[in-house]
Amino acid sequence: MDRPPSPDPGAPDGVASDTSSHRANGRYRNPWPNATPPTFRDVIAWRRTHTTVPRPRPVLPAPVPSAIAYPRAASGTLSATWVGHSTVLLQVGALNVLTDPIWSDRASPMQWAGPRRLTKPGVALDALPPLDAVLLSHNHYDHLDARTVRSLVQRHPSARWFAPLGVARYVRQWGARTVIELDWWNAVDFDGLRVACTPAQHASGRTPFDRMRTLWCGWALRSGPHAIFFAGDTAYHPEFAEIVRRYGPFDLCILPIGAYEPRWFMRPVHVNPEEAVQICADLAGAHPGHAPPVALAVHWGAFSLADEPMDEPPRRARAAWGDMGMDPDRLWILSLGETRRVSPNDS
Ligand code: ZN
Ligand code: ZN
Repeated sequence: MDRPPSPDPGAPDGVASDTSSHRANGRYRNPWPNATPPTFRDVIAWRRTHTTVPRPRPVLPAPVPSAIAYPRAASGTLSATWVGHSTVLLQVGALNVLTDPIWSDRASPMQWAGPRRLTKPGVALDALPPLDAVLLSHNHYDHLDARTVRSLVQRHPSARWFAPLGVARYVRQWGARTVIELDWWNAVDFDGLRVACTPAQHASGRTPFDRMRTLWCGWALRSGPHAIFFAGDTAYHPEFAEIVRRYGPFDLCILPIGAYEPRWFMRPVHVNPEEAVQICADLAGAHPGHAPPVALAVHWGAFSLADEPMDEPPRRARAAWGDMGMDPDRLWILSLGETRRVSPNDS
């Protein structure tokens, strides 16, 4: 297995080096066995299996009022507000951090075709507090949306944008002023927040011609007493124990639970709910003397991206969580817009 490069601070507002060990032939790859993403031919084969058999209407997450602290939360506190899909507002001490923002009606290059949003964002764009940082995990349309980036740049011109290798150019093009591009295992510090780019097993591409040309990642944050892990989009891979060893123990982990069927197609790129729960167990197991992290389940309930019923991911996540004997209160399946605070007793 290739070892990722040792941690180096990335250059703020600079492009990190292009010598990442997981890059081959101008394309990035997942440096683990059985981690090759589906090919275009696989996509065609998967599409062929689609039937139009009617299904029961899924129970989708409902909106509730948020409890965002304006303009900022108190130092030493940590809360998360689920906007929808993988978009989460983190109030980490006095800093406001947003993950993979998408407010558009479709996860697509055009607003007349492509996966349509089935639930509205739980927080209005104008209801966001002043943003200090935005974390981007990769360039798929459900995580990197041009209209949303432009809207956020207008409203929050001084926010810092964090992106994996190759993704900075999109957000710069859409107006972001401060963009920090990092490779896996690189980290930067600002305003008391450490932001580290972590490995993920996934893929990238926005057209048929740019597959794997930019990197994908997760993010680990540390501020004061709190550490947070945002997994991005990922399959199950061997590095979670190393991520928590370097950047944990985590108080909160944000894990994707949706878009996993059929497994022959999705397994190399998306965990299923059982694997998401296993990630949380891996993260907890590395620090047995510390309370296990709270898991916030995301990447479900907004876009229909795969074959499972839209309301299956949280059911299976709860069942797997129970089967592992973990405290049910530490698995957060939130309503849209719901805010929860990680209480001091949780960590
Ligand atoms: Zn993706
Ligand atoms: Zn996704």
